[in-house]
Amino acid sequence: MFKCMWCGKKSYEVKEIRVLSTTPVVANRYEVSISICPEHEEKLRRFYDQVRRYALLFIVLTAIFPLGLIMSAICFGKYWWAGYLFNTNIAALGLVLIVFPFCSQSTFDFMSIATSIKLVRIMGGIIFALGSIGLVLGFPHG
Ligand SMILES: [Zn+2]
Repeated sequence: MFKCMWCGKKSYEVKEIRVLSTTPVVANRYEVSISICPEHEEKLRRFYDQVRRYALLFIVLTAIFPLGLIMSAICFGKYWWAGYLFNTNIAALGLVLIVFPFCSQSTFDFMSIATSIKLVRIMGGIIFALGSIGLVLGFPHG
């Protein structure tokens, strides 16, 4: 009996399928085998397609976050908009995680893909809310 990687359920219906890995560099992609129950195969294939399509964009967008933090740290006390940059940066990271709820392949080993998507989206929602509240309250001041 295998465990479905999407929902985490164990069943005799779970089968192995081969899909292309989500490695960002297209040339480095390889086939991985995934155990999946029949009703989740379509969802898994669609999710993997999405991750493959946006993996690079996701990496670029999340790489902007530390840069934004460094920028706002440099600007604090010098420019009035430093606090806005700080909060916009946080809200933007939250949005990126909601739109692209991707996490590393190794995460799927200890939780199902469906759970990891939900967790990343909830995290993104909290981060987005924090940034938005900061923007509305105008805190912290630059
Ligand atoms: Zn399943």
